[in-house]
Amino acid sequence: MGLLENKVVLITGASRGIGRSIAVECVKQGAKVAFTYLSSAEKAKALEDELTANGGIAKGFKSDASDFDQAQQLVEEVVKEFETVDVLINNAGITRDTLLMRMTEEQWDEVISTNLKSAFNLTKAVIRPMLKARSGSIINMSSVVGVSGNAGQANYAASKAGLIGFTKSIAQELGSRNIRCNAIAPGFIETEMTGSLDEKVVQEWRNSIPLKRGGTPEDVSNLTVFLASDMSAYITGQTLNVCGGMLM
Ligand code: NAP
Repeated sequence: MGLLENKVVLITGASRGIGRSIAVECVKQGAKVAFTYLSSAEKAKALEDELTANGGIAKGFKSDASDFDQAQQLVEEVVKEFETVDVLINNAGITRDTLLMRMTEEQWDEVISTNLKSAFNLTKAVIRPMLKARSGSIINMSSVVGVSGNAGQANYAASKAGLIGFTKSIAQELGSRNIRCNAIAPGFIETEMTGSLDEKVVQEWRNSIPLKRGGTPEDVSNLTVFLASDMSAYITGQTLNVCGGMLM
């Protein structure tokens, strides 16, 4: 039996990268998966086909996580389709990196809306089914830079630090209802988000990490499955780093 047998898992931003890997792992562990994307319709369709090919239950939804009304409507549709939401994974995220001197108001707002407001939007929407079930697990994809800060990423680091404060608050508010909330702080995970970086810079980063490699999406999805499952029933309000020892 899988770790997530019959649990309904909603993942934002799963058309590629870490979210995609989480969707694949959740279906392997027996979950019914609803996932979202913003613009990668073909990739989302290909993922849905892959997830359902061997009898898995999964459905992709086009939904902008930064839009409050779309998030409420999404959860309504997911509940209609799958009856409830047991696990919410707030994974959708973007970067608009530049030094503060050059950062535009639009770059600030876009990152805060997509990375932080989205977690508010989706968490508000799933609270009702989770309260009804008197159980739930909410997982927010933060980042090590939300803990350490990073030059050139003031908007991104602020959004990821915000997610940690949000996580701890929700854990305190909803613990008595058996709803857990944790954050994951990945380090340098090699995905499309990092694919545009200069190879020489990337190699220097790999060398500076104690485990001497960038992380894989699977490194992150393994922890996500654990936090989604009942194996982590007594863990809430925590931020767990998946970073090869980059941040200690
Ligand atoms: P990625 O490869 O760029 O994928 C981002 C995903 O988010 C895509 O599926 C994208 O959908 C979706 N998305 C973007 N904006 C959205 C919106 N407004 N509504 C719904 N979906 C949206 O990123 P990743 O590297 O897998 O990162 C996933 C998460 O981990 C992010 O929160 C990121 O900040 C965090 N993280 C990543 C790293 C890393 O090193 N990669 C490190 C720390 C934290 P479309 O394809 O449709 O655009």
